[in-house]
Amino acid sequence: MAATATEKRLLVGGDWIETGEWIEVRSPYDGEVVGRVPKAGADETRRAIDAAEEAMRTPLAAHKRAEILVKITAGIARRHEEAARLICAEAGKPIKTARVEASRAMSTYTFSAVEARKLGGEMVPMDAAQAGEGKLAFALRLPIGVVGAISPFNFPLNLVAHKLAPAFAAGCAVVLKPASQTPLSALFLAELADEAGLPPGWLNVLVGPASEIGDVLVEDERVRALTFTGSGPVGWKLKERAAKKRVNLELGNATPVVVAADADVETAAQKVAANAFSFAGQSCISVQRVYVERPAYEAFVERLVPLVDALVVGDPADDDTDVGPVIDEDARTRIVEWINESNGDVLTGGDLDGELIRPTVIANPGRADKVSCEEVFGPVCTVTAVDSIDEAFELANATRFGLQAGIFTSSLDTALRAAQALEFGGVTVNEAPTFRSDQMPYGGVKDSGNTREGPHYAVHELTEERLVVVELPS
Ligand code: NAP
Repeated sequence: MAATATEKRLLVGGDWIETGEWIEVRSPYDGEVVGRVPKAGADETRRAIDAAEEAMRTPLAAHKRAEILVKITAGIARRHEEAARLICAEAGKPIKTARVEASRAMSTYTFSAVEARKLGGEMVPMDAAQAGEGKLAFALRLPIGVVGAISPFNFPLNLVAHKLAPAFAAGCAVVLKPASQTPLSALFLAELADEAGLPPGWLNVLVGPASEIGDVLVEDERVRALTFTGSGPVGWKLKERAAKKRVNLELGNATPVVVAADADVETAAQKVAANAFSFAGQSCISVQRVYVERPAYEAFVERLVPLVDALVVGDPADDDTDVGPVIDEDARTRIVEWINESNGDVLTGGDLDGELIRPTVIANPGRADKVSCEEVFGPVCTVTAVDSIDEAFELANATRFGLQAGIFTSSLDTALRAAQALEFGGVTVNEAPTFRSDQMPYGGVKDSGNTREGPHYAVHELTEERLVVVELPS
């Protein structure tokens, strides 16, 4: 292990535990061991569920939950650079992008603290029906129960924050399984929760074989909700197997952008260059497919390619780096294969710079190419000339995904048509669809998922209504 490597324990029932076996965490950039964590399995998962269930027997008042969330925010602020360095080390995310993620995690906790204090039910207008006359009714919003949370590698701090903070705001205890490649940031957040005074059992963090831990979370009836962010095949399978639970899925995309003939081409090119390659394209809403109306095509491509060539590819720990490694060798091999298989023209990139994939722009790929219809999750974007805005909408929709899409145009009409025509959970106008602010309702349609995150919406998803009907005195 490197001298700077981090060793962490797992949190189960308020205890920081070891298991006798360890998982090494390696840098995706140079393969160096950057940390190690104990390896958990089915037994630890059952203990964690026992602890979570026990914790929820003594509900935490909303003001206490809010205060703990505020303290965790302060903890991230205090250890902000450490958080960013952990993300950079275990995910290979460029340090400047990792710093943004750490700040966003603070925002996620801040909004969740507000939600904890706002959580309330609603009155039912009983005398709206004759049968209801003389009765008072209201619906309480109560925590759904123990939440099983599973998170991906690509935002190891902020997507864990999106699992934990709204669950606490809702009054739920959590059993979290972060991605095996990036468990350190999740355990860092667990340390902050512990320091902030979250009582034992409210948060349990397990790292280990996904199917073993996942199977217990699916099969144990005490886990009332599963919240999953990751790839589609894993997520939909979980949902199929957990028929009686609420299963909230945040999945992938093959993010399209439409550039209309009347767009500000300079802005569109800058936003695409910045948002197709950030974190080597490993965001679920990285720009992947750009459809440009023919009159703007030449100017857009001429502006885009030099901007992409100017991106600094290298060591994620360097302040200047824009594009670092993809998560592992399998991902690299797959992405290079997809580039090579494409029927389009590679305008720049398409090869390796050492072990890193150079930012790649492919012009006019085939409709059935993988880069046109599957999620690349790498530093690759396609640019296709189209004859009309309707053709652009049709191509943008020609995918099983539906998370976010974007349009660049100076016409309000075209923008509003895009908002209606694009079958996605979110549509951005004159902004890249990679944009996300953490309070937004964020989530997909079609294969991209079935829920919305953002603390307000996630709290709603993790609570249930209980109706109370009261006979009024006559
Ligand atoms: P992944 O391979 O699906 O892994 C996600 C999580 O699921 C990891 O913790 C993984 O554990 C776990 N997992 C894998 N197999 C499992 C099983 N059989 N049972 C239970 N858990 C299991 O996804 P990833 O490669 O980490 O992340 C990339 C994907 O996430 C992309 O498709 C991306 O678009 C999507 N994503 C979506 C959003 C969104 O908000 N919509 C945000 C970010 C990422 P191990 O690590 O131990 O295998």
